[in-house]
Amino acid sequence: LKHIKKNGNRKQVKAGSAIFGNGNFVVIAGPCAIEGREMLIDTAKHLKLKSTSMLRGGAFKPRTSPYSFQGLEIEGLKYMKEASELTGMPVVTEIMDPRDIDKIYPYTDMFQIGSRNMQNFALLREVGKHDKPVLLKRGLAATIEDFLLAAEYIAVEGNSDIVLCERGIRGFDSYTRNTLDISAVPLLKELSMLPVIIDPSHGTGLRSLILPMTLAGLAAGADGVMIEVHPCPSQALSDGEQSLDFNDFDRLMEKLMEVESCF
Ligand code: PEP
Ligand code: MN
Repeated sequence: LKHIKKNGNRKQVKAGSAIFGNGNFVVIAGPCAIEGREMLIDTAKHLKLKSTSMLRGGAFKPRTSPYSFQGLEIEGLKYMKEASELTGMPVVTEIMDPRDIDKIYPYTDMFQIGSRNMQNFALLREVGKHDKPVLLKRGLAATIEDFLLAAEYIAVEGNSDIVLCERGIRGFDSYTRNTLDISAVPLLKELSMLPVIIDPSHGTGLRSLILPMTLAGLAAGADGVMIEVHPCPSQALSDGEQSLDFNDFDRLMEKLMEVESCF
């Protein structure tokens, strides 16, 4: 590693008003997919009330099946922009194809590169050439070294505003969707200067595990968390079983507030 190697100072990454790596625990929340204007605005308003740092929502969705809902694309990003302006929360959304970068650029404060694209080297290089922060998610079968080298691909092009996200790796157990590797948090921080967050929604696939894993991430030194929240998870077009409803999210935020000062 050259550009992201730990060299004493930790890197702070700013995405609008959200700052990763300054000692605060950043909470990113929102639906897996932007499903429509109303659901997104309702969710954003609720999240804002609970002091969420940043809004997430996918418009270009990397679905396992080509027959599943693929996202609202630019229409969805227009709702995202509206939600952002209404609430003042910065937003993060996934980019899947380097050819989409100019299209997506004006609508987001941070580019998300998803697990399935962690080694899409053309995409990594492309976001590396732009001046917008990047949320890079760990590949579903990526080693720590693969993950760090993927971040290095972005940084080598000039953009080292990168936040690493541990989102679970494929294990052998079918109770959980993935195995959230909590040890990756301190390890990544030992090896690189980049902020590290966790995604307990994709990391476990189970809503009941989101709160305990969020607390585990905080205790392990994570700089934040990304959580899927939906107004009605049972009706969600994607990832309902790992999404919190508003009440569960409120409980999580209360608990976080209670324990945050301990770490
Ligand atoms: C997501 O966060 O919307 C997502 C698709 O996650 P991952 O890339 O980690 O599967
Ligand atoms: Mn999802």
